[in-house]
Amino acid sequence: MSFQNPVFIPGPTNIPENLRKACDMPTIDHRSPLFGSILHPALDGVRQILKTTKAEVFIFPASGTGGWETAITNTLSAGDTILVARNGMFSHRWIDLCERHGLNVQIVETNWGDGISAEKYAEILSKDKALKIKAVLATHNETATGVKSDIASIGRAVKSVNHPALFMVDGVSSIGSMDFQFDNWGVDVAVTGSQKGFMLPAGLAILGFSERAMAATKSGTLHRTFFDVHDMQAGYANNAYPYTPAVGLMNGLNEACKMLLDEGLDNVFARHTRIASGVRAAVSAWGLELCATAPEFYSDTVSAIRTPAGFNATDIVTHAAETYGVAFGVGLGEVAGKVFRIGHLGSLTDVMALSGIATAEMCMVDLGLDIELGSGVAAAQEVYRAGPAIENRKV
Ligand code: PLP
Repeated sequence: MSFQNPVFIPGPTNIPENLRKACDMPTIDHRSPLFGSILHPALDGVRQILKTTKAEVFIFPASGTGGWETAITNTLSAGDTILVARNGMFSHRWIDLCERHGLNVQIVETNWGDGISAEKYAEILSKDKALKIKAVLATHNETATGVKSDIASIGRAVKSVNHPALFMVDGVSSIGSMDFQFDNWGVDVAVTGSQKGFMLPAGLAILGFSERAMAATKSGTLHRTFFDVHDMQAGYANNAYPYTPAVGLMNGLNEACKMLLDEGLDNVFARHTRIASGVRAAVSAWGLELCATAPEFYSDTVSAIRTPAGFNATDIVTHAAETYGVAFGVGLGEVAGKVFRIGHLGSLTDVMALSGIATAEMCMVDLGLDIELGSGVAAAQEVYRAGPAIENRKV
């Protein structure tokens, strides 16, 4: 018999049993009303999670990276200028994708550990009198550094200077676990995937397009075939895809949306805040620091934890996997070897989080770090004991 520990990588996340079952279904005709009875509720569910009444939702058989490509290729043309901050490995990869598509990328270099500066975006946009900048990109939650950016403020900054640039947001490691308000924040394109807040296996790129983004698809000339939103929209009207959809995953997505909405989005976000607060209490009890440089940047879905100078943080991840069968995330890019990451998003309870904290603690002690066994667990326990009474918890 093999026992499966929860994972603490920041996606793919733990898959609840009901979602695993929902993905495991017999073949159906994917060009039929039966498929429509999965597709349309899934689209509606995503719309509710994104908090939008107006956006067009698209679900591609792809991952978050395919979502980035969908956002760019449907709305922009080669040579267009875009504005984007680089503050971690994922914003870096989105930039790389844009450059490979021939976009002129204006990069706001940002310390890996800081959030995106809305003021800097506003300043650059206000100087762009020729309106060269066609899109502003922001990563809501930099998974590599555990840094959250204030998307509401960035949205307001774009509006405050009356600039017509489209506002595109990567919500891959936030949507479904942290609050995301597509309509209120003035987002034009939101990108996510199935394997994080939606608690499913990887395999779906999930997007929202505003009316303005849909209008931009008429003028954007970058090449797209697989990711063409108009082909997709035409398919939806006939309960079909322009090609073969990942039906089981979409059935799972439908269930995942129901699960999140049944728990109540505010409860989902509060649960993530509480779990993250416990992890942060443990980090501080260990005498360690987060990569995120200030509380306003602390992510509720992933904590990147700095280890002492001279210590290779990746050793913790390797040791946890080899000795305890537990998965944490390694540091990426600039912070490789300097941080290890505890993912705390998706299907997770306080008690599951305690097992991850306890494992990290054992690994650090095994590897000779000056940490007291039980110190982080005790600090997190105090946070979790103060959480809502068990009968009010709908996890
Ligand atoms: N954006 C962020 C913030 C991510 O964390 C990830 C993956 O972890 C991606 C984009 C890329 O998504 P995918 O690996 O699903 O292509």
